[in-house]
Amino acid sequence: MHTVVIGGGVIGLTTAYHLAREGETVTLVDARATGLGASDVNAGWIVPAEAAPVPGPGMVLKSLKWMLRPDSPLYIKPSLDPAFASFMVGMWRRSNYADQRLGFEGHLRLAQGTVEVFDDYRADGMDFEMHSQGLLMAFTDKENLDHHLDNLDLVRQFDLDPQVLLGDAVRTHEPKLSDAVYGGVYFPLERHVDPGALARALHKRIGELGVQVVENTPIDRVEKRGDRVVAVHSGSRRFEADRVVLAAGAWTGPVSKLFGTPLPVRPGKGYSVDLAPCVLRGAVNLSDARVAVTPLDSRLRLAGTMEFGGLDESINQVRVDAILRAPRTYFRDWEPPANPPPAQTGCRPMTPDGKPIIGRLGALTNAYVSTGHGMLGVTLAPGSAAALTDLIVRDRLSPDLNTFSPARFLGRPKRH
Ligand SMILES: Cc1cc2nc3c(=O)[nH]c(=O)nc-3n(C[C@H](O)[C@H](O)[C@H](O)COP(=O)(O)OP(=O)(O)OC[C@H]3O[C@@H](n4cnc5c(N)ncnc54)[C@H](O)[C@@H]3O)c2cc1C
Repeated sequence: MHTVVIGGGVIGLTTAYHLAREGETVTLVDARATGLGASDVNAGWIVPAEAAPVPGPGMVLKSLKWMLRPDSPLYIKPSLDPAFASFMVGMWRRSNYADQRLGFEGHLRLAQGTVEVFDDYRADGMDFEMHSQGLLMAFTDKENLDHHLDNLDLVRQFDLDPQVLLGDAVRTHEPKLSDAVYGGVYFPLERHVDPGALARALHKRIGELGVQVVENTPIDRVEKRGDRVVAVHSGSRRFEADRVVLAAGAWTGPVSKLFGTPLPVRPGKGYSVDLAPCVLRGAVNLSDARVAVTPLDSRLRLAGTMEFGGLDESINQVRVDAILRAPRTYFRDWEPPANPPPAQTGCRPMTPDGKPIIGRLGALTNAYVSTGHGMLGVTLAPGSAAALTDLIVRDRLSPDLNTFSPARFLGRPKRH
C-alpha cells in the first residue's frame, strides 16, 4: 500500500518514519524543504509534564491585558474574518480549569514513553543532539508558581516526579538564577533536542528506509472518487495514493479545504534567537515571561511569543527584543547581546481547544490527519506517529486518540 504524507515538519517526518518501519511504501511531499519553520526554530523541549493545552483558566483576562502591550508574549491581530472570530471564541470557551485538565491528561497519555521512543530513534541510527538534564520552570511571581502547582498531582500520576524548589533551593539547583526568582518546579525526566538536527536525522533515515521525499512541491488539489482520495496534485504533478496523511502544520486550514473537510487550525507565530552557549544545568522556562531557554552544545536558544495573525512569517523585532531582555530578571550577570543575530520564526499549528487533531479525515475512508500540535509538536510527535500508524496499518484505534478525533470539528464519520 502506498501512503502519501503531505508535510515534512516533525509530524510528517515522524509519521513517514513509523509507517516506513512497518514496511509501508511512503512518499512525503513538502511545499518547501522539510524541517523548516516551526520544526526548526522551536525550543526542542520534550516535556510531557508541561503539556497542558494553551487555553486555561485566566487566559481571557491575561490575553486582553497583553494585547495592550507591544512587547507582550501574546498578540492577537484584530480581524473581522468570521472563521477567526469563531476560533478565538472557541479558545476562550475552553479557557477553564476542567477543559485544560482533561486536555492535559490526554497529552500525558499520548506522550507516555516518548523519551524512550527518542532513544529508539537514536538506536536506529538517527544522529541528533539530545540532553536529559530535565526542565526547570522558574517563577519570579509567587501567584504564578502557586497556580502551576494545581496540576502537579496529574503529573505525578504519570510518574514524572516534579520537585518544588522554593527560595535558595531553586538557586542551589540552578546557580545561574538571580535573587528575583521566587521558586520553581523541576521535572527531572524531561529532555531537549536540537530540533533542526532531529528533522535532518529523520529526513536522512526515512530516505534510507526507502521513503521518497519530494520537496518544493505544494499540494494544491485533491482528486477523489466517492469516499476515497485517489491522488493529490501539485501543479501538473500527480501523486497516486492508496492513503493520504495530512500533516501540513499551520497550513492545515487551507489544505484541509482541498479535501472538503475544513479544519480550524490557525497559525500561532513564535520566534527563537540563538546566542553564544551559556552554562546551565538544563533547560529553563522563564515562566512569568513565557520564554524558553534551551542550552545546546554550540549555542543557547531563547524562544517565545504567540502571535495570532495569519500565515505570515515576518519578524516583529519589538517582541524579539522582549525575548532577549527576559533573562535579565531571572539570571545573574545577564545582558542582552549588543548585536544579536537575526531571529528565526515559525508558525505553530493551533486549534481552538489546544489539542491536536489526529485520526481519520471526516468520512473519507483512506485519508488521515495529524496536526494541531500547537506548542507540543516535538513532545507529541512520536506518540502521534505511532498511534496514527497503528490506525492506518492495522485499522486499530488507540484509546489515546479518542480525545483528539477530527470528528469533534467535522461531525462523526461513518467509521473512525
Ligand atoms: C518558537 C517555538 C517554540 C516551540 N517550542 C517547542 C518545544 O520546545 N517543544 C515542542 O514540543 N514543541 C515546540 N514548538 C511547537 C512545534 O514546533 C510545532 O508543534 C511543530 O513544529 C509542528 O510540526 P508540524 O509538522 O505539524 O508543522 P510544521 O513544522 O510547520 O510542518 C508543516 C509542513 O507542511 C508543509 N506544507 C504546508 N502546506 C503544504 C502543502 N500545500 N503541500 C505540501 N506541504 C505543505 C510545510 O512546508 C511544512 O514543512 C515550538 C514552536 C515554536 C514556533
